[in-house]
Amino acid sequence: MSEKSFRSILTGSFSTPCADNPTVAMIEAGYHHAGLDARYINCDVKAAALADAVKGAKAMEWVGFNCSLPHKVAVLDHLDDIAESARLIGAVNCVAIREGKLIGHNTDGKGFLTSLKTVTSPADKKVVILGAGGAARAIAVELALAGAAHITIVNRDASKAEAIAALLREKTDAIGQAQAWSGKFSVPAGTDILINATSIGLGDPKAAPPIDMSTLTKDTVVADVIPNPPQTRFLQESQAIGCTTLDGLGMLVNQGVIGVEIWLGRTLDSTVMAQTLESIFGTENK
Ligand code: NDP
Repeated sequence: MSEKSFRSILTGSFSTPCADNPTVAMIEAGYHHAGLDARYINCDVKAAALADAVKGAKAMEWVGFNCSLPHKVAVLDHLDDIAESARLIGAVNCVAIREGKLIGHNTDGKGFLTSLKTVTSPADKKVVILGAGGAARAIAVELALAGAAHITIVNRDASKAEAIAALLREKTDAIGQAQAWSGKFSVPAGTDILINATSIGLGDPKAAPPIDMSTLTKDTVVADVIPNPPQTRFLQESQAIGCTTLDGLGMLVNQGVIGVEIWLGRTLDSTVMAQTLESIFGTENK
């Protein structure tokens, strides 16, 4: 008999719709480059089928899976344990399966934090986050846990901004503040880090969040969560002012790297994964 194993390590993703999610290509490129016999299977799982999908992953001894819309909150009902930041965020996008137990994590904010740390530390910083959806909440919690001093959440629906600000005040050492967003937003003096965590700019290179760019100075680090196109209009205009910028592609790649570290204890090559996404997005944008 051959010594070769014909059994691959299984990972994947549960979401719906799932056909436009390129994570499978990015992660499998990383697995291949690392010489890992591992697969990432992109599954279309409807809301009503989540429990069966989770049972299936467990039965087939998958080592873990990502969950995206609409399962990030619903999956909480199926977990045995949950990591601290995911508990605070109230959503899970990455589940590890160890000895039949399911442990929930949230890598959205962690992926952002890893990118941010390549240019600056969040510790003691004054941060402004535009948007109050799932991405904003995950980023706010991770930045607060990483020592950011002051975080302002700016959103059209002020009640959503206030919910995140209150969470920061109650559960972390950061000072959380909410601001309603109407008209053009003026960047407060002394802002160290400004983050677009809205969906403005996704698939639209001409769209930019309504900001009075004359209030932005080159001392502010500017980040965008939008992965496609990576060079959003907001980032381009910030670069023209002289700001250091971070794109959403880095956040997406880093969350993939962190997920595989949680599942397999292996660190994939982020450059190979970024190049894979860039070539996919480059083709899409032609
Ligand atoms: P949500 O739908 O939960 O939140 C969207 C947010 O954008 C809300 O705060 C909404 O404000 C705001 N918004 C949308 N349109 C406008 C507008 N025209 N003017 C002002 N505010 C607006 O989405 P998510 O938080 O899950 O995702 C946000 C973006 O982050 C998406 O584009 C997603 O692709 C990206 N993302 C990127 C990741 C990465 O790895 N790079 C990871 C996760 C997300 P309101 O509440 O007032 O409606």
